Amino acid sequence: MMFEYAPAPESRDIVDIRPSYGLFINGEWVESQGDERHKTINPATEEALAEISWASEADVDRAVQAARKAFTTWSALPGAERAKYIFRIARIIQERARELAVLESLDNGKPIRESRDVDLPLVAAHFFYYAGWADKLAYAGFGPRPANGQSGADPRPLGVAGQVIPWNFPLLMLAWKIAPALACGNTVVLKPAETTPLTALAFAEICRQADLPPGVVNIVTGAGATGAALVAHPGVDKVAFTGSTEVGRQIARNLAGTRKKLTLELGGKAANIVFEDAALDQAVEGIVNGIFFNQGHVCCAGSRLLVQESIAGELLDALKRRLATLRLGDPLDKNTDIGAINSAAQLAKIRELSAAGESEGAERWSPPCPLPDRGFWFPPTVFTGVAQSHRIAREEIFGPVLSVLTFRTPAEAVEKANNTPYGLSAGVWTEKGSLMLWTASRLRAGVVWSNTFNRFDPASPFGGYKESGYGREGGRHGLAAYLDWKLA
Ligand code: NDP
Repeated sequence: MMFEYAPAPESRDIVDIRPSYGLFINGEWVESQGDERHKTINPATEEALAEISWASEADVDRAVQAARKAFTTWSALPGAERAKYIFRIARIIQERARELAVLESLDNGKPIRESRDVDLPLVAAHFFYYAGWADKLAYAGFGPRPANGQSGADPRPLGVAGQVIPWNFPLLMLAWKIAPALACGNTVVLKPAETTPLTALAFAEICRQADLPPGVVNIVTGAGATGAALVAHPGVDKVAFTGSTEVGRQIARNLAGTRKKLTLELGGKAANIVFEDAALDQAVEGIVNGIFFNQGHVCCAGSRLLVQESIAGELLDALKRRLATLRLGDPLDKNTDIGAINSAAQLAKIRELSAAGESEGAERWSPPCPLPDRGFWFPPTVFTGVAQSHRIAREEIFGPVLSVLTFRTPAEAVEKANNTPYGLSAGVWTEKGSLMLWTASRLRAGVVWSNTFNRFDPASPFGGYKESGYGREGGRHGLAAYLDWKLA
């Protein structure tokens, strides 16, 4: 018997959204010098939340100049002093976590359960983690080792970091970018995604609350053109980008031959491999978490389920039973499992690829799932009978859509898993340690989860192979993208 849940909405009174926002440059709110302003909307209701300035080239220039000026003093501060500011930011984020979680769910459409229990704790943890590194950079073990065997490398910040982030984890991606940059002594100009600017603007307030010196963090809102102006600006020394492979490729082309350092975190088409000896109930939870977490708007989502043929029927039955219990709807309801799709454009892309799956011959299934009348919604969807050549097996759908393929032997599983232009993550489900290690060591993926999926920790590096990008974020490795070394 299925029980209905009573509504349990989180109150939105805790957030105070202004009718309109300027840009955050040199520690101040300033008007854009351009005249483009656009509304950011709640994707669950299509209600306008606030009017946002779209920064022009001249605005980006102002922000970069402010960051350049601030770099002189920020980079000269002892690491322990920089750490104090970053620890302060981390504590304020913890104190304001509920407000930030509600704001994120309103602007992005993700369930409050996820923004509250996953995004915000990880955001705070990221700032705490990198605050801890700020005075220990000389011991991070980078750079050439001097002949006398002592730790002689003298790590130096790069300068101004131009950072462009996507809409799927707006505040978490901001944390992944800003925390290591500041810890290493760089200053930052960050552009959030056009559909999810609000938590980045709230973060600007947090920088003021933490008394961060003006110009160390600058936030310029806008669309692709603002991002393009930022990465092309000659005053930027390092570019960090997370988003689509297509835009990442464009940026790499534009930066080729310049002295700018670049890290790219791009798309994925991760395989989640379930062997016949796996604990099936746990695997089902891992599959659900892998592809339906955050509506599948996850670059490392387990969007390709590779299941051993001998258990495929049993596993799919269990998976379908589980999917029928997922609750889709109001992102602010604490019982909601699946929230809104972030934008009309993303919904159109998910629909287009799902239609292609059907027309190429795969079988489509969704549980009974009434969709709200307003807003952007897509039901959890499973495709079976998928072939390697189908678009839904090759292209990133970035939505709650799972493609199921089968295999007979471990070698076939590895071959199919690696048969993708991407290489960001993978999952392996088996009770046998030897099979786990054999498989993991053959997968061309930056992260391989064993008997779990979508686990993150600030101490653990994250990044891709092939068209999933280059460079690592998180952990000691994440410092490397923001430092230069010379022997002391
Ligand atoms: P984009 O790559 O276009 O967006 C990522 C960020 O880059 C946004 O801030 C965007 O601004 C900005 N941007 C866009 N064009 C440029 C440019 N020429 N130079 C510099 N910055 C630019 O991703 P989309 O939001 O368009 O999503 C498209 C697809 O990309 C998704 O369907 C998904 O498959 C994939 N994707 C992958 C992500 C990942 O984490 N790997 C994250 C997001 C998307 P604006 O928001 O205004 O477009």
